[in-house]
Formats: sequence, structure tokens, C-alpha cells
Amino acid sequence: MACAWQRELAHAITTLEELALALDLPVASLAGGAAAAGQFALRVPRGFVARMRRGDPRDPLLLQVLPQARELEAVPGFGPDPLAELSGMCQPGLLQKYRGRALLVTTGACAVNCRYCFRREFPYAQASLTPQATDAALQAVATDTGIGEVILSGGDPLSLGDRRLATLLAAIGRIPHIRRIRIHTRVPVVLPERVDGGLLGVLAQAPRPLVVVLHANHAQELDAAVAQAAAGLRGVCATVLNQSVLLRGVNDSAPALIALSERLFAAGVLPYYLHLLDPVRGAAHFRVGERRARRIMGAVAAALPGYLVPRLARERPGMPAKEVLAPALHNREEVT
Ligand SMILES: *Cc1c(COP(=O)(O)O)cnc(C)c1O
Ligand code: SF4
Repeated sequence: MACAWQRELAHAITTLEELALALDLPVASLAGGAAAAGQFALRVPRGFVARMRRGDPRDPLLLQVLPQARELEAVPGFGPDPLAELSGMCQPGLLQKYRGRALLVTTGACAVNCRYCFRREFPYAQASLTPQATDAALQAVATDTGIGEVILSGGDPLSLGDRRLATLLAAIGRIPHIRRIRIHTRVPVVLPERVDGGLLGVLAQAPRPLVVVLHANHAQELDAAVAQAAAGLRGVCATVLNQSVLLRGVNDSAPALIALSERLFAAGVLPYYLHLLDPVRGAAHFRVGERRARRIMGAVAAALPGYLVPRLARERPGMPAKEVLAPALHNREEVT
């Protein structure tokens, strides 16, 4: 029998017509996105749509999920695999870019399809962790004692069922040198029903301290149900952080980012990263230039305590860490 969250997921909105009707927008006003939706499907849970403003085609939540004709325009510098992840993959489902951390692409499934997603063209069928590939990936982690943290990513690891997650966590727990397990997920934000008693029971049994990194981009995403989901995660002793992507038209202003940090804190969540958009094909309309991003972050940093200021970061293939642009560390030598 399906749980409430699985029913909610099965009833997600997947057509432009349904989306227009739910938001009191003329169907014709969204029809231009049909071809883009044919390339990367529209998918958004109804509970997330309920947080959008009716009749507003520029709603910041809507823009994150709305297929648009301009996604199909070719833009120089924007390609299918902006982070060169396919060449960085040691074996199917296992990415090891940074020292001490191994990332598992646990599934291709997500509760929502975000138009700016850097893995929107990721070949999950060949490169995610099928149950068969899990053993090989964990074997590789087990033989490298330099790895202290396993990161469950995807797709969205919380779109896996409880039993599959429990099995995965237990298997990671059998690797003695793993000290932390991290889960990167947007599910508690777009489908907070998923954080139910069953999931919390599984997470409470996790064999190592858990870090859960949520993904919310705008304060309006964080309603009472999301706050309750975050409280549930903290209740099983997880450290709960948030990462966002800086998106034109969605959150590219200091007031929007300040409101997001404030709302996160009220929900018991601390901001971690604010990513510059990865140049993935189809997402160029979300781009915010680096200089403007730094200026916005300057205003955010001037308004908030340091622990509510996310690190503005960019990911570049081949670098030893994500490159933090602000708050900047380029004056280190003077300090020491
Ligand atoms: C982002 C990322 C990590 C985690 O980096 P942190 O700076 O520790 O958050 C690890 N592995 C891969 C492949 C990543 O893309
Ligand atoms: S939830 Fe994350 S992985 Fe899934 S589409 Fe959105 S950004 Fe991409």
C-alpha cells in the first residue's frame, strides 16, 4: 500500500494545462513551454504549487519549475554536462571529486524537476546507483580509508523508499572509516509529507551522525509543513543545512536572500552554500553575473549575522574544492 507521500508524488502536476488551471493563469500563456517540457519534463508536487501566488506568471516558485521556450536557445558556454561529471565518475553511481568525500548518485528520481538543474541531462540510466552497482561503489569506498564522509545525492535520495534507504545506510555503517553521512535533498521542501514517521525511524537508526542539506531558493518555499519536516530531521539529531542556487528572477536580490536566511533560521536550518548557476544547457535565462552576485552578497552580509550568510560558491571542473567567492578569503596572508 502506498504511503501518503507516494500518493502525493503520483499526483504531481506534469502538464502545462494543469499548472495553468491550478494557478488561474490563461492556458495559452504557458503553452510556449511545451517543446521545452518535451525535452525535460514538467513535474511539480501540488503542495509546492499551492505555495505559488495565483495569477502571477512571475512567481519565484513557478519560475523554478516552468518550462519556457527560451530553454531551447543555444547559448555559448552552456552545455549538457557543465561540471564534467561523466569523466569524473570512477564507476557507475560514484563521484569522487573532493578529498575525503565520496558522492553516490543514488537515483535519478526527483520529486520536482527544477529547470536550472545541472543534472537535467544526466544519463541516470547508465550512471546512477542501481541496486546491483551499489555493492561495487561501496566496495570502492571501503578500500579507500581516506574517505571519511559519504554523500547521498541524485536525483533525490529521499525519493528512495524507506527500506532501500535503510539498507544503504546500514551498508555504509559497515565501513569503519566513514565518520559522517550526508544527504542532499530537495524533498523535505517540495514534498514535506515524505518526512514521515517511517523515514524518521530509518534516519534515527543511521549508523553515523547525519548531515542533511536541504535545497530551498526562496522564503516562500518554507511554509509550516516544511518547518515541521525540518524539525523532524533535527529530532533525529541530524545537522540541517540549506543550499540554494542564485537564480535571476527568483532570488537575485539582497531582500530575497535575507528573507530566505531569516525563514531558514526560524525553521532551525542554517544556510550553507549559495551556488552560482552551473552553465547547463537550457538554464541560461537564470544566469546572474559574478560581479552582481558579489554585490548582492555584500548587502546580505551587511544585514545578517555571519552564521546566516551563505557562502557564495562556484563549482569548476578540476578544482580541489568549490570556489568560494564571498565572503572572500583572498586576504588570508594579511591576516596571518
Ligand atoms: C559538492 C560536492 C561535494 C561536497 O562538497 P562540500 O564543499 O563538502 O559541500 C562532494 N562531492 C562532489 C562530487 C560534489 O559535487
Ligand atoms: S531536486 Fe535537485 S537533482 Fe532534482 S531536479 Fe531539482 S535541482 Fe535537480
